[in-house]
Amino acid sequence: MATVFTKIVNGEIPSYKIAEDENYFAFLDINPLQKGHVLVIPKQETDYIFDLEPDVLAGLHKFAQRVAKAIKKAIPCKKVAVVVLGLEVPHAHVHLIPMNAESDVRFDKKLQLTKEEFEEIAEKIRKEF
Ligand code: AMP
Repeated sequence: MATVFTKIVNGEIPSYKIAEDENYFAFLDINPLQKGHVLVIPKQETDYIFDLEPDVLAGLHKFAQRVAKAIKKAIPCKKVAVVVLGLEVPHAHVHLIPMNAESDVRFDKKLQLTKEEFEEIAEKIRKEF
């Protein structure tokens, strides 16, 4: 069965899309730690990131770098944190999270945003991509 992230890539589940190319896809995390929290995934369905072929893993990070640069321009922050963790969705993903302090990257504290806020953030980042 397809993962929830594959369904997002295929447009079967809606998302606030940021960018995609042939092999990778980026979209807003629906339970963000900060405004501008983005997930970057390989389109290929692989659960564990270190099971990806080395070229696919390298490509994922290159794509994430481009997305992180766009986030940094769109959302005022000192750095964009890059985090790989979690067991919830069995489809490899990289979290990109705007941060001004280490305490901004706490996975036990999520923001509640409106649809309008998500759309505004996604549009800002897309413009910088
Ligand atoms: P984890 O595997 O623990 O990194 O969790 C998966 C991440 O995906 C969490 O941060 C969720 O908020 C996020 N997530 C799950 N479903 C969706 C979705 N439909 N759209 C956007 N983000 C999602």
